[in-house]
Amino acid sequence: MIISGKDLAREVKENIARKVASYKVEYGREPHLCVILVGDDPSSRTYVRSKGKAAAEVGFQHTELLLPAEITEQELIDKIHELNADVGIDGILVQLPLPKHIRKHRVIEAIDPEKDVDGFHSHNVDALWHKLPGIRACTPKGIIKMLDKAGVEIAGHHAVVIGRSNIVGFPVAKLLLDRNATVTIAHSHTRNLGDITRTADILVVAIGVPKLITADMVKDGVAVIDVGISHDPETGKLSGDVDFDSVEPKASVITPVPGGVGPMTIACLMENTLDCYTRKMQW
Ligand code: NAD
Repeated sequence: MIISGKDLAREVKENIARKVASYKVEYGREPHLCVILVGDDPSSRTYVRSKGKAAAEVGFQHTELLLPAEITEQELIDKIHELNADVGIDGILVQLPLPKHIRKHRVIEAIDPEKDVDGFHSHNVDALWHKLPGIRACTPKGIIKMLDKAGVEIAGHHAVVIGRSNIVGFPVAKLLLDRNATVTIAHSHTRNLGDITRTADILVVAIGVPKLITADMVKDGVAVIDVGISHDPETGKLSGDVDFDSVEPKASVITPVPGGVGPMTIACLMENTLDCYTRKMQW
């Protein structure tokens, strides 16, 4: 079974749009998401555009703040502080990566944790690790929703996560652990990767190496979540980390690239924005 992230994302967004319509009547305004883009990297522009499109679909107010690549770190932080103080803005996101002269961690830490819709601020990361309420990162959240939608049993099963970034690998491993999976995290120093992946009931791959995972590296019936997005050097086409054609016949469920995790990440961003708004309005 192929898990369509597109279809599930549509369901999630339709549900959000329904809530926005009634909250607008109740609270007098819609949720407002502000996305900051520094510089004009073409891939980042595409991501920012998709986020704006999704925000419009669910009925949010949406501001795109385009800042020049030469902006200083302090100027960017000052701008974020202004947005933090603006009661009409519910969610703030800074599109990554940032230009080299700007320290990512300083910028993320400048965002009010209550408006940190990406869930990257240390308060929200801390909340995840301590099982406290907080904003969960969008991609890991989307992955769990996809597994649930596909009816994959997580508790008691062996989940192998390849990749340990703070954005995907690490938090998804924690969410799986919290759902009572036995979790192994593999990374670029892991030896004999295939010996580990072949033991996985659930395999989450988030590395950015096209088609690294081949049929010989998985067991029959595995649930495969392919997070990777890169370009196949042979065809130039968008590719996941999993060799879809060879792995799909062995998998019980699998996500495609494109149309898998990507749309769900954006849908979860909308959900996080709505949550920030409702927390504020219902305070
Ligand atoms: P990252 O570069 O921060 O981390 C990559 C991880 O992969 C590292 O932990 C590294 O140790 C591991 N790795 C690299 N090569 C490996 C190898 N050969 N064997 C085993 N482990 C290896 O990347 P990231 O931000 O976590 O993103 C990973 C991929 O997921 C990228 O392709 C990115 O574009 C994609 N991504 C997709 C979404 C989405 O919404 N679909 C969201 C975030 C990231």
